[in-house]
Amino acid sequence: MLQQNPLVELKHVEQIYGSGARRFTAVQDVNLTIQEGEFVALLGPSGCGKSTLLRIITGLQKPDSGVVLYRGQPLQGVNPHATIVFQTFALFPWLTVLENVELALKARGVPEKERVRIAIDLLDRVGLDGFENAYPRELSGGMRQKVGFARAMAVEPELLCLDEPFSALDPLSAESLRGELMELWTSNAIPTRAILMVSHNIEEAIFMADRIVVMDKDPGRIISVLEVGLPHPRQTRSPQFQAKVDLVYSILAGQTQPEAVEFGSAPGEPGRTRALPQVQINDLTGLLEHLDEIPGDRTDIYRLVDELGMDSDHLLLLIETAELLGFARIDKGDIMLTALGETFAEASILARKEIFATRIRRLPLFRWLLGMLQASERQSLRGEVVRMALELEFPPEEAERQLNTIIHWGRYAELLSYDDDTETIYLESAVPVAA
Ligand code: ADP
Ligand code: MG
Repeated sequence: MLQQNPLVELKHVEQIYGSGARRFTAVQDVNLTIQEGEFVALLGPSGCGKSTLLRIITGLQKPDSGVVLYRGQPLQGVNPHATIVFQTFALFPWLTVLENVELALKARGVPEKERVRIAIDLLDRVGLDGFENAYPRELSGGMRQKVGFARAMAVEPELLCLDEPFSALDPLSAESLRGELMELWTSNAIPTRAILMVSHNIEEAIFMADRIVVMDKDPGRIISVLEVGLPHPRQTRSPQFQAKVDLVYSILAGQTQPEAVEFGSAPGEPGRTRALPQVQINDLTGLLEHLDEIPGDRTDIYRLVDELGMDSDHLLLLIETAELLGFARIDKGDIMLTALGETFAEASILARKEIFATRIRRLPLFRWLLGMLQASERQSLRGEVVRMALELEFPPEEAERQLNTIIHWGRYAELLSYDDDTETIYLESAVPVAA
């Protein structure tokens, strides 16, 4: 479906905001071409200029320097062929669902009879059959977003821009709406020629996009571009999919030390088995959220002791965990979140669990345990068995603590489940259904 037919071209695009001492480069030297037929995802920490780029591409804003071409022509003013869908879609509260969608058709000059038919069809496609005469206030957030999508489709934009369109939705609505959009897009049921989506959700971007553009901030710029290159519908559990996920995470995480040094080795392998820091996920999340809220990107570690009201031993354990998982980097007594750490801090609960799962799957202790569970009958092991294996690596009390941490982290990540009655660890996919 991909032709070499540039729809949008950005050349050396730069955006400066503020003035005087507060002048800063929000977007620096961005070069990006979106081909006809392409679905491009933009990933990166908040503040790296993603929304700015969307506004520049749709002509809502003119960059300070650089060139924006649409179908080879310099863009003048607002691009009439482009539409943006935002995180929460503004609907007219005094109009019904149907009227909200019809309005977009009216603006395009579609005759009245046609309008009703098309609007009903669009609402049906996004799963709102039966809600045509409801008012926005009667709908859940997820359903309102669906109306927003139907309205965006009614505009039939050549270029559809999406700014975190699924992040305000509950997981089920997000999943179904993603599916609907992919269905419309891959079956060519809409005249849209290209999609550009800003996302905070790495799996979502890899699930949907042909190409992923990764940005970083200070200054906002593109640091990596990768092709996904997997056929639709994508199998999120496939090794090829997971390999792409892993690659994007490693770009966003950066590296404090080479991973092999940080991680140590698995039980039974030569080398030291690294003990997991004894940390509760809630505490780790608290630290990352706190760091995300502090202005500026470096923080003195000693200041955090007061700010968070915790003792320094505990704080250092949390920092060690954040570093081990690629969420933070330490430099000369300062801590800074990595792009992945920021993504985590700002993600929904579900997306956080996915990020966490992807990271701990790389840790040798988890690799080792998940491998043993997969190889065992019924994909389960008695806790006792695992504890004994750990005692070959650690003193008995430490082995016990390691086991508890593994279960706690593994449960949070939804990789493992643990039956307290039978003291058995299961692979999450292998949990027996209660009778
Ligand atoms: P993202 O969408 O990646 O979070 P934005 O494009 O919204 O990033 O913002 C990039 C940076 O520019 C941020 O530091 C933001 O605070 C700043 N910014 C965005 N819009 C304006 C504006 N109109 N005036 C001044 N600063 C702005
Ligand atoms: Mg934004």
